[in-house]
Amino acid sequence: MNLEHFKVKLKAEKENLEKEIKYYQKEDPYSDKTRATGISEDGITETEEHDRLSATKTELEKTLTEVEAALARLEQGKFGKCSNCGNQISEERLDIMPSASLCLSCQQKQVRA
Ligand SMILES: [Zn+2]
Repeated sequence: MNLEHFKVKLKAEKENLEKEIKYYQKEDPYSDKTRATGISEDGITETEEHDRLSATKTELEKTLTEVEAALARLEQGKFGKCSNCGNQISEERLDIMPSASLCLSCQQKQVRA
């Protein structure tokens, strides 16, 4: 397995995610504390916007954590091993999702559980 290939991929993904998170932080009307009274005229819109943005941001932050964990595993020489059963995760799967910490069968079991 070409670890360098995955390292490059993961680092690029990490940078992208960090940029996106910053973007969502900036766009979120509630991130500006001086404006966020919650009772402004367009308060409802702002609340909805905030909910939408913060949901996306939370999702991005979760992915970022996974990418960072994958990079850490790479440094520790544990990259590509399923964290549940210890089997090697297929390279095709890692190529699509380098941050995957579970093999396909464990992932499927987890989704069903
Ligand atoms: Zn597994």
